[in-house]
Amino acid sequence: MHEFEILKVIDELYYKYLPLREGKVASYIPELAKANPDWFAITIATVDGRVYDVGDYSQLFTLQSISKPFVYGLALEDHGRDYIHSKVGVEPTGEAFNSIALDEKSKRPHNPMINAGAIALASVIKGADPTERLNHTLEMFRRYIGEDVIVNMSVFLSERTTGHRNRAIAYLMRNFDMIDSDIETTLDLYFQQCSVMMNCRQMAIMAATLANKGINPITKQRAVEQQYVRDILSVIYTCGLYDSAGEWAYNVGLPAKSGVGGGIIAVVPRHFGIAVFSPLLDDHGHSLRGIRVCEELSRRFNLHIFDLLMGESKLDDIIAAKTVE
Ligand code: GLN
Repeated sequence: MHEFEILKVIDELYYKYLPLREGKVASYIPELAKANPDWFAITIATVDGRVYDVGDYSQLFTLQSISKPFVYGLALEDHGRDYIHSKVGVEPTGEAFNSIALDEKSKRPHNPMINAGAIALASVIKGADPTERLNHTLEMFRRYIGEDVIVNMSVFLSERTTGHRNRAIAYLMRNFDMIDSDIETTLDLYFQQCSVMMNCRQMAIMAATLANKGINPITKQRAVEQQYVRDILSVIYTCGLYDSAGEWAYNVGLPAKSGVGGGIIAVVPRHFGIAVFSPLLDDHGHSLRGIRVCEELSRRFNLHIFDLLMGESKLDDIIAAKTVE
């Protein structure tokens, strides 16, 4: 019989944080308000293809902003760094994800993780028509998880109907010629990428693919060119959690991305990906249980990127397999 230390750890964290019922399910996208506040899952996927999970790990939910780093990678592959960074910067804003501000001088959105930056990138994704651009995007997600992905039509329509703030951001960028394609078509693709459905296990495999230099650890298929993995990790390290990115970098110290669907992923480069799913959100729009679980994992096993670099992490305690009689 094999007993894995890691399963005991995530089981313990699951039962420790299950009673935490602070925070609120997102409701500004009406369809998201239907989420069950009790849903909770934790998955760890290693770069050698092992997957450990606890809780509601097969429950589907929408990626929301977790789609942004992956679409950033796709945009880089489509156009290269020079063009993409003429459209979007790499500066953290210290502001919420739906901030309407653009960089004063260049009129670019500050980074690809806030809505403005992600909408600007949705406007340049390659494809002859909206169907091709959507399929190009879905095909990219498919490479990361090794399975087909679909868009939740109700969530997509719900956001499309109510997303006036995103529409305002898109028109502001149109005004400054940061977007030159049709606004509604661009917003549709952005809302569709946000409405891609995955479960916690699949999200952890996406994070593990980034940890594994862009190669899916299970299918061994390349999901993104290796040269862009560092770009993605840098941007999510500094901007992935918007106005709490600094606090996260200080406390947890891992590249990470959250979404208002309740998911959060974190990457331990060269080792594993972590995903937590729980739709109760804090004031910044991050999963509350997700933040707590990642904070505790990082603290207990010294997973902070600088602990890793200094050789202080206790990786063996968390991912080593133990065989018991
Ligand atoms: N689709 C959401 C929006 O544009 C994504 C936000 C998020 O997950 N932080 O508002």
